[in-house]
Amino acid sequence: MALRNLVLEGDPLLRKKSRPVDEISPRIIKLLDDMADTMYYENRGIGIAAPQVGVLRRVFIVDVGDDHGKIEFINPEILETSGSQVGGEGCLSVPGKTCEVDRPSHVKVKALDREGNEFVLEADDLLARCICHEYDHLEGILFIDRSVDGKVYRVEDEEDEEE
Ligand code: ZN
Repeated sequence: MALRNLVLEGDPLLRKKSRPVDEISPRIIKLLDDMADTMYYENRGIGIAAPQVGVLRRVFIVDVGDDHGKIEFINPEILETSGSQVGGEGCLSVPGKTCEVDRPSHVKVKALDREGNEFVLEADDLLARCICHEYDHLEGILFIDRSVDGKVYRVEDEEDEEE
């Protein structure tokens, strides 16, 4: 197992656009393995994108705990979106913060797997939300940019409100 350091909000790397992977080299395979280790090591990590570990390549991983398990995306393209869902999000690169984000409730995405095979996935609900969040990282966009009411909350504040 190999963990990578997370790039945190404020680092200009998170604001850059990532480049496509031109060859699925052993380096990319290692990147995918390390990203998964890092995501699972961090509590509540359900997705991670390569820029979050300082690599500006179009790669991300999601695992929302459903039957799909871990899904790796290389050079993803969002083909279609539909519907809308507003819900709270967080991010390993933006610790302790949350806000409400409006995302499509359905997405159709095309990508390569680690063997270089193209696949098309249709996703709903949390998986759709997670894919859109991770895809945004490849474009240098953070979830806090998309707050529906323009507000960003401390996670602790939210817990206080619930009590
Ligand atoms: Zn994120």
